[in-house]
Order: sequence, then C-alpha cells, then structure tokens
Amino acid sequence: MACNHIDQIEDVKPRTHGCEECLKMHDTWVHLRMCMICGHVGCCDSSKNKHATKHFHSSRHPIMRSIEPGENWGWCFLDEIELEFT
Ligand SMILES: [Zn+2]
Ligand SMILES: [Zn+2]
Ligand SMILES: [Zn+2]
Repeated sequence: MACNHIDQIEDVKPRTHGCEECLKMHDTWVHLRMCMICGHVGCCDSSKNKHATKHFHSSRHPIMRSIEPGENWGWCFLDEIELEFT
C-alpha cells in the first residue's frame, strides 16, 4: 500500500525550534514531529499534549516526519502508514 498524499509535501523547514504550542504554554515534550506541508513543529503521541496529531486534525495536513536527530521516518495520518525520507 502506498501513500498518494506525498504530492502535497512542500519544501518546508521547521517553523520553530520546539513544539510551537508547548513553547507558548511553557510546557515540555518528548519527541518532535514536523508537518511536511507547512513546517509546523509539534510534539509526538508520547508527549502529553500530542500537538502533532492535533495539528493534523485542525489543519488536515496528512504527512509529518520525525525531526529527531538520525530519524528519517514519517507518517501519513490518512493512510496510517510509515514513510521514509532521505
Ligand atoms: Zn497518504
Ligand atoms: Zn506540544
Ligand atoms: Zn501543517
């Protein structure tokens, strides 16, 4: 099964150096994920606030990737499949 949303991916850079919402709330996170459509940085589902998933629900941007050092996997929320980025 392949993801047919990858054509929505833009040449984005992380908009913030940490989870955008957690930084505003002075909260903490576990891992960071970046939206591949707009560059929003949110925290992962192991973090209590789960802002990356919340960003998908509010924006309908389907694809995010890990921006943890050494990690190049991504995730399509609509297909629920793992993607690989180089
Ligand atoms: Zn997809
Ligand atoms: Zn967060
Ligand atoms: Zn986005």
